[in-house]
Amino acid sequence: MSAATTPILPPATLGMLGGGQLGRFFVAAAHELGYQVWVLDPDANSPAGKIANRHLQAAYDDYAALDQLAQGCAAVTTEFENVPADTLDYLAKFVPVRPHAAAVAICQNRVAEKSFLRDNGIPHAAFAAIISEDDLRDAAKVGAHLFPGILKVARFGYDGKGQAVVNSREEAIAAFQGFKGETCVLEQKLHLDYEVSVVLARDEQGATRCFPTAENIHRKGILDISIVPARATACTANSAQEVAERIAEKLGYIGTLGVEFFISRGQLYVNEMAPRPHNSGHYTLDACITNQFEQQVRALCGLPLGEPRAHSAAVMVNLLGDIWFEKDADGNERYREPDWAKLYAVPNLKLHLYGKHHARHGRKMGHFTVIDADPARALETARAARASVG
Ligand code: ADP
Ligand code: MG
Repeated sequence: MSAATTPILPPATLGMLGGGQLGRFFVAAAHELGYQVWVLDPDANSPAGKIANRHLQAAYDDYAALDQLAQGCAAVTTEFENVPADTLDYLAKFVPVRPHAAAVAICQNRVAEKSFLRDNGIPHAAFAAIISEDDLRDAAKVGAHLFPGILKVARFGYDGKGQAVVNSREEAIAAFQGFKGETCVLEQKLHLDYEVSVVLARDEQGATRCFPTAENIHRKGILDISIVPARATACTANSAQEVAERIAEKLGYIGTLGVEFFISRGQLYVNEMAPRPHNSGHYTLDACITNQFEQQVRALCGLPLGEPRAHSAAVMVNLLGDIWFEKDADGNERYREPDWAKLYAVPNLKLHLYGKHHARHGRKMGHFTVIDADPARALETARAARASVG
């Protein structure tokens, strides 16, 4: 535990690696608190870049751009777990970088992540690292208990991409070839009672504050709905928070961290960690005293963490690009803007659109959160609202 350093105060400039919606919410939170933000992202139209004080349009390994960021910013954070760890290490020579490279490196590689869980005695699904086809043929390495399993590429998978359900060794080999021999993990496919997540913030003194545990429903491998409070037993929700805190401590984590869990036959397993705010924590924008992005700013700047308590039940619904495509009578797809007036008509619904130019199937374009003291009614309202826009 390091001694408290002097906090970074407004109007300092903060650096953000990554310009997606998570970065955009960070920019908004930082602006609210009086900071300025520079965003580094290669995309000219990045959602965060468009509202930042400055957008450095460059690759994550463009060292001239990293030098500019380091010179212009008092501290740097990330919204994207696939920023090269070398980039974070490089920046850390000049400015505080939170979370640090070593923690991000663990979260961005499924082999490192699952090995970390195993080495720290944290419950997770049985797995094997797959470097070559021979690993899959080796019964000592890949036992029958791993089937049916899910083969996942170790790096750059998201929203269910880079994953294949495999029922046998032969299917696993075929899937591995399909992933072009990239390093993978093969993990046991669990029966899921349900999925929950914990978003927390940890400061440089090691103080940790958890947001209420969310229950998550996925569709086609992508988060669809988060429900808060989770319909898990209080005991499960609390143990998820304890496990998430243990992970943050073992990582020496500073910042906002998302931890995804499976509950299988009443047992809790960690699925994966995200070294950044998490989609399932978007409800905190509208339902909590402090939201996950403000916590990220606070942890980055060495400010005391805010109160994470929820002041209401909430249901968050992701809006994917799919709803921009309407089918006509002949089954042809037509691209059009959804009828947002339908959502604005619901008084306890908070709509957030990310300012992305073009919708694609499966692309996260926005979300909304229904705030209601009665969780069941929040879910009902949310489902009806979603149905009203496609
Ligand atoms: P991503 O990085 O795409 O979020 P995840 O590993 O979280 O990848 O997998 C996406 C979803 O697929 C999970 O939320 C869960 O619904 C399902 N899934 C993943 N791994 C397993 C598993 N071992 N057993 C059962 N379902 C799984
Ligand atoms: Mg996931």
